[in-house]
Amino acid sequence: MTEAAVDPNVRVRFCPSPTGNPHVGMLRTALFNWAFARHNGGTFVFRIEDTDAARDSEGSYLALIDSLQWLGLDWDEGPEAGGDYGPYRQSERLQLYADTVEQLQQAGYAYPCFCTPQELEERREQARKEGRPPGYDGHCRDLSQAEREERYRDGARAAIRFRMPGTDFAWDDLVRGRIEVSAATIPDFVLVRGNGDPLYTLVNPLDDALMRITHVLRGEDLLSSTPRQLALYDALRGIGVTDLPNPQFGHLPYVMGEGNRKLSKRDPESSLAMYRESGYLPEGLVNYLALLGWSIGDDREFFSQQEMAAKFDIKRVNPNPARFDLKKCTAINGDWIRELSETDLAERLKPFLVSAGLISDPPTPEQQSALAAVVPLIHTRMDRLDQAVPMIEFLFVSDAELQLDPKDAAKILKPEALPALEAAHNALSAITEWNLESIETALRDSLIDGMGLKPRLAFGPVRVAVTGRRVSPPLFESLDLLGRDSSLTRLQRSIESLR
Ligand code: GLU
Ligand code: ZN
Repeated sequence: MTEAAVDPNVRVRFCPSPTGNPHVGMLRTALFNWAFARHNGGTFVFRIEDTDAARDSEGSYLALIDSLQWLGLDWDEGPEAGGDYGPYRQSERLQLYADTVEQLQQAGYAYPCFCTPQELEERREQARKEGRPPGYDGHCRDLSQAEREERYRDGARAAIRFRMPGTDFAWDDLVRGRIEVSAATIPDFVLVRGNGDPLYTLVNPLDDALMRITHVLRGEDLLSSTPRQLALYDALRGIGVTDLPNPQFGHLPYVMGEGNRKLSKRDPESSLAMYRESGYLPEGLVNYLALLGWSIGDDREFFSQQEMAAKFDIKRVNPNPARFDLKKCTAINGDWIRELSETDLAERLKPFLVSAGLISDPPTPEQQSALAAVVPLIHTRMDRLDQAVPMIEFLFVSDAELQLDPKDAAKILKPEALPALEAAHNALSAITEWNLESIETALRDSLIDGMGLKPRLAFGPVRVAVTGRRVSPPLFESLDLLGRDSSLTRLQRSIESLR
């Protein structure tokens, strides 16, 4: 498989609207744009499409910035970074939009439409009855200048519509191949609302032109806006706003969730916050997002962001819908956790332990060394960082605070377990030097050899009594780290509760 040619003139953009919480679909789009830019040694532009004051929020804007940073998707131009084509928040570009619309009207590419929503609806209804297409019927297209002035004088407010040229459209989509759209299906569309608000239909392609975007990589849901944007680029060249050819388009496949329907922003597995809170690594999530429509080749599914950038070829994006598989995402995350050094893993676990109230922030030296000691024991036993918390909690709470998991206790700490617990207590009490070897010998001699128990029956009760759960780091190591006094105290407590 050949790699795509490198082109430092490439300029791509990620241009979300700051509404709601960052979700998987938009981050996949960001990642593919980032990888395309980095592969080519080009420029990754981050633009905020915040022209809808009613829906946009500052919180959502900040969450977007934070999410891209967390994922390691650095941008070259945009909010915070600046750049030659700013400002990069559309709410700061309103004058420019107004000026451009004025020019478009003067040159005849756009015109005021005075139809009220009610009139539009009535005519749509009529068209439906007569079996005509229901889109805008061009009613205000050819009003004379005098008529327009009169309507304005009467206090009418007009939306500004783009005059579609009546030609068919075709482009070679980088993902989907040749796409052809007939002119008849696209009526004149609104660029600016009656109240003066510019719409996506105007500001998105206009800014792409002004920011000299060469490739538009975005979700398939936006495919239907592409012909209108192609028409608008022609007009923008017509009025001299740009001298560039159209960008090339690549529409990324849908992401499907459970039950073969589109993954929705509202699905819990869509939310980036969910991944961060439950201990996915950015490395793991990026790796999984990359697989939503792209493959690195050779059936390889584990690769880093840098490898992705090195190999990224938009031609290898599969146009078929990608299936979102949380299990696979989690498994890949587990592979990434196992890839971390022990020091790194300990660092990344800290916030989880802090928020569970198990360590202070910053940790005390004792907590720090307990963490360093336990990390090697759990390193290969988790797929998400949050899974470490219940496994190692027993080391960070006092004997009195330790809560036994009620289900595990009910299942394992039954009266039949009493002799094993007593034998374990006796054997451990007799140890003179508390270490891994002496612990293991004491427990094996007394429970396995002495009582003839199977390991599971012998050690299960000890494990639950001491760590509170059936799932813990290896038992002998756990006892070693916990220390003699706590181990004996905890065993004693379970013994008493069973007597
Ligand atoms: N602001 C648009 C969105 O978030 C951008 C779409 C595009 O990439 O053209 O859907
Ligand atoms: Zn009209």
